[in-house]
Amino acid sequence: MTTSPAQATGTPARLEAVRERVRAACERAGRDPESVRIVAVGKRHPASAMRPAYAAGQTLFGENYVQELADKRAALADLPALRWRLVGRLQRNKAAQVVRLGCAVDTVDSVRLAEALQRRADGEGSRIEVLVQVNVAEEPQKAGCAPKDLGGLVATLRRLDALDLRGLMALPLQAAQPEDSRRWFRILRQLAAEHGLHELSMGMSADLEVAIEEGATMVRVGTAIFGARR
Ligand SMILES: *Cc1c(COP(=O)(O)O)cnc(C)c1O
Repeated sequence: MTTSPAQATGTPARLEAVRERVRAACERAGRDPESVRIVAVGKRHPASAMRPAYAAGQTLFGENYVQELADKRAALADLPALRWRLVGRLQRNKAAQVVRLGCAVDTVDSVRLAEALQRRADGEGSRIEVLVQVNVAEEPQKAGCAPKDLGGLVATLRRLDALDLRGLMALPLQAAQPEDSRRWFRILRQLAAEHGLHELSMGMSADLEVAIEEGATMVRVGTAIFGARR
């Protein structure tokens, strides 16, 4: 992504630029801008970097690691409207911790992980929002449910009453050109439609426009909001 010097003046300005990109993409696609939520992904930025975004009206934040999410959630506990999503891989032995944090989990990709979350959430008397991460490009060694296994996982999730299945998420390999992501976003949208699911978390700093054109309801944006990661 190219950022003009005038835009590179801190998180509030960058956030406004991202909102403008979302609005413009929605307009081109004939979509309501309210139908797309921005998830601000703060991995490897300190909790203090989230505050200017929150002050500028951003309330939905994503993190890749459970411990980093826990630390930031504690550091930002004074911000009442803040909501968290885990957007990175979750190991089953962290299911209890994640349920206690009360965040949404966007990366459920196996029946065993789903069952572990169900057990913990049920035990706490809570309900957690989940997305299924799909390995749309069927990349070997990559997190995500294979498209052929999605039907079985969705059926299981619908039986697990402590989990609130909302939709699908994908993290295809970062392409050289934003346009190269389109085919994967399209596959994710088709899979969601086949299963009657509505949330589509896809698109990042570089390709959020293409994702919105293909139906994204959540775009996960790090660099374009917080700047380069250390
Ligand atoms: C880091 C990350 C993002 C944000 O990536 P940017 O290119 O910095 O916008 C989105 N989703 C996931 C799962 C990530 O790990």
